[in-house]
Amino acid sequence: MTSTTNTYRGRFAPSPTGPLHKGSLVAAVASYLEAKKYNGQWLVRMEDVDELRNVKGAADSILRSIEAFGFEWDEDILYQTQRKEAYAEALQQLKEQNLIYPCTCSRKSLKAKAASGEITSGQLGVIYPGFCTNNNFSNFKTDEYAIRIKVLEQKICFDDELLGANSQNLKADSGDFIIRRRDALFAYQLAVVVDDAFQNITHVVRGVDLLDSTVRQLYLQQCLKYNQLQYAHLPLIVHANGDKLSKQTGAQSIGDKADIPLLVECLEFLGQNPPKELERDSLNNVWCWAMENWELNKINSAQD
Ligand code: GLU
Ligand code: ZN
Repeated sequence: MTSTTNTYRGRFAPSPTGPLHKGSLVAAVASYLEAKKYNGQWLVRMEDVDELRNVKGAADSILRSIEAFGFEWDEDILYQTQRKEAYAEALQQLKEQNLIYPCTCSRKSLKAKAASGEITSGQLGVIYPGFCTNNNFSNFKTDEYAIRIKVLEQKICFDDELLGANSQNLKADSGDFIIRRRDALFAYQLAVVVDDAFQNITHVVRGVDLLDSTVRQLYLQQCLKYNQLQYAHLPLIVHANGDKLSKQTGAQSIGDKADIPLLVECLEFLGQNPPKELERDSLNNVWCWAMENWELNKINSAQD
């Protein structure tokens, strides 16, 4: 056996903004089966970094659901609210490289400038033109400002395991982006990169709604001298009207009992062609079948 077969480390990283729903179950199933296929570890990380969006009880409810479905995670669950020191250290590392600056622009003023055509939009929304790039931290007495990271005028490419070649030019698509918010909360982009490195994650399997974030994350990995990860972005389950299924759009939540037909439906959605009778089988047998038959590349990525 070569050592590469057991160095795989994957993760499931839900945000506790509501109970587990079908869309997040799909990401859990795919990341789990892919990790198992490579004899890897599968970690669970609670992405509660955006404290304003956390819903009381949601983290425990998500964990109870995945436990009921029979997922077995390795190591302790990491909570981002416990990781502020690590994020602050990463920020310091970026500061020492002169890569970050305080930004005092309000969202309102940027919006007004965008509306009047003074600044334009790119792939990731309004392109921040670097108004504050010369701001010096020593001139700011309080912490009431956002912090942005300087990006490069250069195309960053990556090869998605499901979607193939992808690229973005951050200068043209977003401009310098926020890594710590005005309200002093760390931005998701920074937290996820610091935690993936801390947990030695090698492979990320997640929904295609995060495809757009990947280049910002690769860029932060480069700046912080972390290893680059491998990514696979899954199609999203959508409502009949094409909207993404999410807690916000009223996705039905999953309770504390294993719903075997739902698990089989996830496998079906993921292109694995489970036999119909699996729906009436035991949870254990469903997982056995899934582990024996799982192939990431059976996923039909055209459906998103
Ligand atoms: N916490 C993110 C979400 O629930 C997932 C982040 C990730 O997988 O990188 O949408
Ligand atoms: Zn600014």
